[in-house]
Amino acid sequence: MKIIRFNGGRVGIVKADRVFDITNLVGEDPQAWPPSGMCRVIRDFETLRPAILRYMVDGPSVHLASVHLQTPVPWPNKLMAYPVNYHDHAKEMASEGLANIQGYFLKSNSSLCGAGDKIELPALSGREIHHECEIALIIGKEGREISPERAMDYVFGYACLLDMTVRGKEERVFRKSYDTFTPVGPWIVTADEVPNHADINMKLWVNDELRQQANTRDLIVNIPQMVAVASSASTLYPGDLIATGTPAGVGPVRDGDIVTIEIENVGRMSIPVMQGTRGSNVVFEKTYDFVRAS
Ligand code: MN
Repeated sequence: MKIIRFNGGRVGIVKADRVFDITNLVGEDPQAWPPSGMCRVIRDFETLRPAILRYMVDGPSVHLASVHLQTPVPWPNKLMAYPVNYHDHAKEMASEGLANIQGYFLKSNSSLCGAGDKIELPALSGREIHHECEIALIIGKEGREISPERAMDYVFGYACLLDMTVRGKEERVFRKSYDTFTPVGPWIVTADEVPNHADINMKLWVNDELRQQANTRDLIVNIPQMVAVASSASTLYPGDLIATGTPAGVGPVRDGDIVTIEIENVGRMSIPVMQGTRGSNVVFEKTYDFVRAS
C-alpha cells in the first residue's frame, strides 16, 4: 500500500490516482502537536490493515492531483543517514569517509519536507548546494541489536529521499539540516511492494538532465546491514527514517530548477527549487572552493 500525509496532517491511502482518507479510521488527529501520529499508525499498521482494505472497497476518494502531499513522517524519533555508500560516489568525492568506516550520522528532523513542497536554497553566496538521490527506509517496529538476518522484518516501507547538502568543510549535520533539505515522498510504499531490496533501481534528474542512476546491488553497506549497524548503537522506533546514501553524479541546483527522483517500485516526485533570502550566518561567511569535499 501507498500511505500519504496530506492537506494539513490527514492520512490517506493512494490507489491508482485516487486518495482514500483514512484519518478518522486510524484515529489520527491532524491538529495534534507534536505531529507524531504517523509513528503510531506505522506501529499499528498490521492491526489496522483489514479495516483499511474494507474502507477502500466503497469508501469515498478524491483525486491524487487535488491534494497537497506532505512529508509522510514529520516527527520521527530520528532521521539517520549513511555517508558515502557507493564506490563510484567515493571516487568522485575523493572521499575515504565511507559508510562502512563511519557508520551513520543524523540530520535535523525539521529538515523534512514533502512532495508538494519546495526546496528553499539558503542565501549563501559562493556555496554550492547539491542534490543527493537516496532511498528512505521507514522503520516499522522497535528494536535494538537487530541482526542482518532479521533486519527486513523491521523495515516497514520505502520512500524517495533527497539529501540536500551545502558543500563545505563545516559540520555535516549543520550543512545538511536547513529547512526543506530532506524531501521525502511522495508516499511510503509498504515493504511487501518491493520484491528485492538488493535490486532497486533509482534515477535523479535536474530539469531534463539525468544526473544520477544506480541500483542498490552496488551499495557498500547494504540495507539489512544499515539496520543492523544503526540498531547496534540506537534503539530503532516505528517511524524512524534511514537515508541510504547517494551514488555518483551529485551536483549543484539553482533557483528555478526542478529535481525529479524516481525509485523503482516506490515512486517518483518532482520538487521545485527556489532561492530563499534566509540562512546566512557567520559560519558560512568564509569562502569555500568546491574541491569535491563531502
Ligand atoms: Mn547523503
